[in-house]
Amino acid sequence: MEELQTPVLDNHLHLDPKRGRGMEAVEEFARLGGTHLLIVNQPSWKLGVDSTDPEDFRPVFETTIGIVEEATDHLPGRAWPILGAHPGLISRLVEDRGCSPAEARDCMQGVLDIAADYVREGKALGLKSGRPHYDVSDAVWDASNDVMKHAFELGAEVDCAVQLHTEASEDLTEVAEWAEDRGLPAHRVVKHYAGGRLAGPTPSVMSNKDWIETAAESGEPFLMETDFIDDPDRPGAVLGPKTVPRRVRWLHEQGYDEAIRRAHVEIPERVYGIDTESTLS
Ligand SMILES: [Zn+2]
Repeated sequence: MEELQTPVLDNHLHLDPKRGRGMEAVEEFARLGGTHLLIVNQPSWKLGVDSTDPEDFRPVFETTIGIVEEATDHLPGRAWPILGAHPGLISRLVEDRGCSPAEARDCMQGVLDIAADYVREGKALGLKSGRPHYDVSDAVWDASNDVMKHAFELGAEVDCAVQLHTEASEDLTEVAEWAEDRGLPAHRVVKHYAGGRLAGPTPSVMSNKDWIETAAESGEPFLMETDFIDDPDRPGAVLGPKTVPRRVRWLHEQGYDEAIRRAHVEIPERVYGIDTESTLS
């Protein structure tokens, strides 16, 4: 165990104990000094869910909650689940299942309703939504925005943060306004896979050195993530589970201790209401 003397949170990753590295990845994270994880459910199709009935998505969430419980046993801190519908699902529903964009929207909003139930019951920490990062028709784009707005309504209702998967952007102020209009403060909207700077939501910065340094320098709120996907078919597609603790050590060597506190204590508290210090054993 390499002591970093601080909580170290990876704000967005996925684990697939059946096909991928699962708890081995969690142990690797912890060995390098990682303490807390936000584990996002895998895209439903990866778990073989090919349905338009939101109820059929419950097993995806139950699987994630089980993984979170197991991961917590391997961490000096703990893990929490983030549940929702991957924005790419809309294309699968429209192109593969023959849904209209409106039918796909209704299905995905229903999936989010179920995810919000888990938050309401205290079984999940936040919601996951967004819109495709690739080109889609206007109808699919509009339907995706409606799904995201529904996620903001639910976030306001159950009092939780909403993680977003969106196109690459340094300005999502319009999206943050949609959240504010529905009663969800902009800072509780988190753009996953963000670069070093972002207007609007809170950026969850991909832990490349350049982006992390930009965020640290900025003095602005940020979180750190890897988007590790734990997919044996796509090794190296994203950053590995060691990356966040390694970058935290690097930030410390560069004298960015204030930024470490910001990304791993203050902003997690502000965005999610979690206390990464008192949950450290
Ligand atoms: Zn992800």
